[in-house]
Amino acid sequence: MALPTFLNLYKDLISIPSISSTDPSWDQSNLNVINQLASWLEELGFKSEIQAVRSAPGKYNLIATLGEGDGGLLLAGHTDTVPYDAGKWTTDPFTLTEKDNRLYGLGSIDMKGFFAFVIEVLKEIDINKLNKPLRILATADEETTMAGAQEIAEQKTFRPDYAVIGEPTGMAPVTMHKGHMSEGIRITGSSGHSSDPDKGLNAIEIMHLVIGELKKVQQRFKEKYHNPHFDVPYPTLNFGSISGGDSPNRICGCCELHIDMRPIPGITTSELFITVKQALSEIEKRYPKSVEVYHLHEPIPSYQCPEHSDLINRAEIFTGNPAQSANYCTEAPFIQQLGCDTIILGPGHITQAHQPNEYLDLSFVKPTKEVIKKLITHYCVT
Ligand SMILES: [Zn+2]
Repeated sequence: MALPTFLNLYKDLISIPSISSTDPSWDQSNLNVINQLASWLEELGFKSEIQAVRSAPGKYNLIATLGEGDGGLLLAGHTDTVPYDAGKWTTDPFTLTEKDNRLYGLGSIDMKGFFAFVIEVLKEIDINKLNKPLRILATADEETTMAGAQEIAEQKTFRPDYAVIGEPTGMAPVTMHKGHMSEGIRITGSSGHSSDPDKGLNAIEIMHLVIGELKKVQQRFKEKYHNPHFDVPYPTLNFGSISGGDSPNRICGCCELHIDMRPIPGITTSELFITVKQALSEIEKRYPKSVEVYHLHEPIPSYQCPEHSDLINRAEIFTGNPAQSANYCTEAPFIQQLGCDTIILGPGHITQAHQPNEYLDLSFVKPTKEVIKKLITHYCVT
């Protein structure tokens, strides 16, 4: 059976829903996308392995391998998409629609479409000439927990020399980004009648002290760190939401604050977590067992590809675009844990991702195919 044309590969991938969301009413399995990719890649001669993601029931990773052993190139991407605003799409998000020199569809650039490019390029490559392994990794749940990529990183069952993640970078190599942490701070006091505020332990008043300390941390980040590759050149701490108490005539017994922190490369997520814990340690001593700091979700580390990597050099030459930093997170910090230099490079612009009417501009088709072909040839044919 012949493989579908490029447009039909694209169309088939977009037509299979694979939304991931922390809201269970949206969340879907990605198995149908994984099975479709596995069958196409097997037809091209790849050995495919489908793995259930242990921490996410119904979610799967695919590792497809051409060749044996370690080394070579890994082309990676996620199979899930974000949910969509039905009323705001002018086309059906699951029907690939060509219009105005664009391909519209949910996942067209973020990033199921990338796999259509990879398979299209592989059709044109004589795989018998490959003498280093080529692997395709398709992951689950990038848009929520990154559980798929995290498990691949933990297992370390293979070690490529180089990895390219096909997220939409406008075909400019992205070689670093900040990490992302969402932390909760819960203050537990003791409630009572408002007529005598001293009779209880007011959680809002303790939270006031907490905020004061975190404001100092915010300032320290600004003064202590400077990475000129980022528009905001230091780690950030943002106060995102707060809730506490229920009634003006009660002493507030519980108050909760959610913050967002973004470490720059070179700072680990545990360093930032410890910084926050230490900043609050005096308050904890003064009000024992009343302060709790916890992860709202697993932290995503910052990431940087080694500056003098051949992969950066090649990607700059092949694309004609200089290396850049990004202000969003990807699976790169996890993929890099496999022991490979890793960059992010793919068609489409991030500004069109996570939006109604997500599209791939067709002007990307030719250069993207050429660059993928050059990367495979350079790293797998020696
Ligand atoms: Zn993405």
